[in-house]
Amino acid sequence: MKKIILFVLLFVYCNSYSQDLREYYNENKSSNLSYDSILKDGSDIILSRNEEILNEKLKRLQREYIESTGSNFPPAHYFYRYRNLIDSSESYKLLKKMPKGAMLHIHSSAMGPIHWLINTASYYPDCYMYTIEDNEKLPYGTLNFYKPGTEPDGWKSLKNLRNENPDFDNYLHSLLTFDVSDDRNPMIWNKFEKIFTRHGGLIQYYPVFVQYIKNSFDTLIADGMQHIEIRTSLGGVYDINGKVYTKQEVLDIYNKVADTIRQSHPYFSFKIIYAGWRGGTREYVMSSLNSAIDLRFDNPDKLVGFDLVGEEDLGHTTEYFKDEFFKADSIALEKGTNIPFYFHDGESTIPSDLNLYDAVALKTKRIGHGVNLFRFPSLQKNIKEKGISLEVCPLSNQILGYVENLRMHPASEYINKGIPITISTDDPQIFDYNGMTYDFWSIFMAWELDLKQLKRLILNSIEYSAMSDSEKSTSYEHLFKEWDRWVNESIQ
Ligand SMILES: [Zn+2]
Repeated sequence: MKKIILFVLLFVYCNSYSQDLREYYNENKSSNLSYDSILKDGSDIILSRNEEILNEKLKRLQREYIESTGSNFPPAHYFYRYRNLIDSSESYKLLKKMPKGAMLHIHSSAMGPIHWLINTASYYPDCYMYTIEDNEKLPYGTLNFYKPGTEPDGWKSLKNLRNENPDFDNYLHSLLTFDVSDDRNPMIWNKFEKIFTRHGGLIQYYPVFVQYIKNSFDTLIADGMQHIEIRTSLGGVYDINGKVYTKQEVLDIYNKVADTIRQSHPYFSFKIIYAGWRGGTREYVMSSLNSAIDLRFDNPDKLVGFDLVGEEDLGHTTEYFKDEFFKADSIALEKGTNIPFYFHDGESTIPSDLNLYDAVALKTKRIGHGVNLFRFPSLQKNIKEKGISLEVCPLSNQILGYVENLRMHPASEYINKGIPITISTDDPQIFDYNGMTYDFWSIFMAWELDLKQLKRLILNSIEYSAMSDSEKSTSYEHLFKEWDRWVNESIQ
């Protein structure tokens, strides 16, 4: 009898235990899932009927692609390793045509089409290459234009180099871009900076420069962008007679090219963020800030702010220049203008890199990268409350070695926490691709995004741009028209 009672009690106990756990499991899981889904940036977007249809199509393509590529899933590997698996996918073709709003993070001398630079610009007469080993200022392979006979020792004309090597153009391409051999390259920033020096004299040669800006804008527009914010110091443009153009003259070139483009694309716009170098001295940074303030005073609608660029882990901290930033703020105020900051910060995996705290304390408008923000929970909260958006450059972060597998990119967490982010490419020319589709496609796949989140990222790019309210409203108008057209065409 005792045995029967014990058995019954055990049965009741086990059954109630399993019922409790089942109940707990269901309640706990569904409440956590639903809370997290509400927190996600983009969760508030209500899709139209056609958008719903497109969303179903995109999610199906995403599932099928993830299943079919398995362990070769491109975003989980170094970009160049499985790049050939991306272009032919239906999802890539769909996203290629997607209107992408604004590109808020791109550098002036790394935004153009690399093939045009090699196949056309480097064929302009009188282009020379530095062909002896690196010295302190010049890496091997640096390009520049000279009047024939005035080139310094160690420089050879590209015409002669092409005669000596029929494969010269491919060789030049390898000197100016990254490739699969840069996977886990510990000296990648060293190579990166050498590339900037190598192509500087090619791009900044006046006849090339004017065409380069036009081709860069055209390429970005062809990939679905309508507004671009460019980091540049506006320096170094020269001609064959030794004239060096002033920063204002360089800004005027941008304006003139944009006017030409607006004849066929009336909605197109751009802004400039003055970029100094974080490896420089305090005096250099102060002088850069003064140049930026003067240019902003004269061009308040075009020059929208200031940033420091270069390898963050190697350069000075943001705090190192704080007195210069305080001083610049007062100088600008006295002059009747201001100098907003758009800091590149958090492009680091080092826990003691606290630059993001300085950027926020200096009232940065946006943050370039913010990779290591995942370490700082209260700063995340503060950034969200203040409406500071992050300019996330997924492939740049992977190519330069900050994140190996894009599935693990911290910006996926930022989206899930409702921190506003936008997507950019940083230096597509050096990364050997055009436009922003590879970046969008990679995160669409790696973070398993849906159309609501893609739409939010694109709306964010206009919302957090440096455009005025009236410029934004014109920009939204164009974007919504293009978006509806794309949605309707994509579901045919
Ligand atoms: Zn950058």
